[in-house]
Amino acid sequence: MEIIKDTQLLIDRIQVYKSEGRSIGFTPTMGALHSGHISLVEPSLAENDISIVSIFVNPTQFNEKSDLAKYPRDLETDAKLLEKAGVDILYAPTIDGIYPDGSDYKVQLDLGEMVRVLEGEHRPGHFEGVLQVVKRLLDIVEPNHLYMGQKDFQQFSLIQAMISKLNLEVKLRVCPIKRAANGLALSSRNRRLSKEGTLLASIIHMTLTHIKNHFQEKSVEEWKAWAMENLSNEWSDPEYFEFSDGFTLANVIDKENHNYIVASTAVWIEKVRLIDNMIIKKVD
Ligand code: AMP
Repeated sequence: MEIIKDTQLLIDRIQVYKSEGRSIGFTPTMGALHSGHISLVEPSLAENDISIVSIFVNPTQFNEKSDLAKYPRDLETDAKLLEKAGVDILYAPTIDGIYPDGSDYKVQLDLGEMVRVLEGEHRPGHFEGVLQVVKRLLDIVEPNHLYMGQKDFQQFSLIQAMISKLNLEVKLRVCPIKRAANGLALSSRNRRLSKEGTLLASIIHMTLTHIKNHFQEKSVEEWKAWAMENLSNEWSDPEYFEFSDGFTLANVIDKENHNYIVASTAVWIEKVRLIDNMIIKKVD
């Protein structure tokens, strides 16, 4: 595996691959890698000639500067994991390499309510930063396939909307959520939880699973109230719990009016903000 930090060097290399007709799979990450990230890399390796993973802790998507400062960084360990997985190139750019003209601009795209609900409501500016960095990375890497996780449901939904609206050539592949044995969704942020906090955090998955298994028994309003209460105790504090249409991310009021429903939540445990979601209903 080659580690490329220089953006121009990567662009030159990609031009060679393109001229040789080789397909490129791309997985953008912010590092502190875990097996959830590797589960995106595996289909990339299977479906493409060249697999590229980026590690870039994008400052423009952090609405809290302290969260950015605390974000775990460990390039050496990450590189070993990716090498073992069989990745061809690890792209680890500098901030200047991604934003040579500064980052004071937005992708000009109106995604309407989709960008303002859920995480968008609770983390103002977050998705503007995500769209900005993913668009920039796609312009640099020009992949055939882009790999993202269902773990960030709203994120992949917005990226899919951006791809469609801008007619980008890339095809998005969404991979299922990888969980620990106790159900906790794997996340780089889990590193900041104590052993006890990691165990207690299984309440999030338990709550989502219970709702999925008993969805018919209560209305959406009743389930929301139940979930908020179930997730509230001395050691956990839910920021929101919401049911959304899986296609549009519009709030679900009457569950009978939607064929595709996702439940999403953000929960604070030990000062760590954990997000999770589950597809509660999908009629094919
Ligand atoms: P991040 O490094 O957190 O920005 O995540 C990079 C990519 O990995 C995103 O597309 C995430 O949705 C995905 N991802 C993160 N955690 C998981 C997980 N537990 N299972 C599957 N994909 C994940």
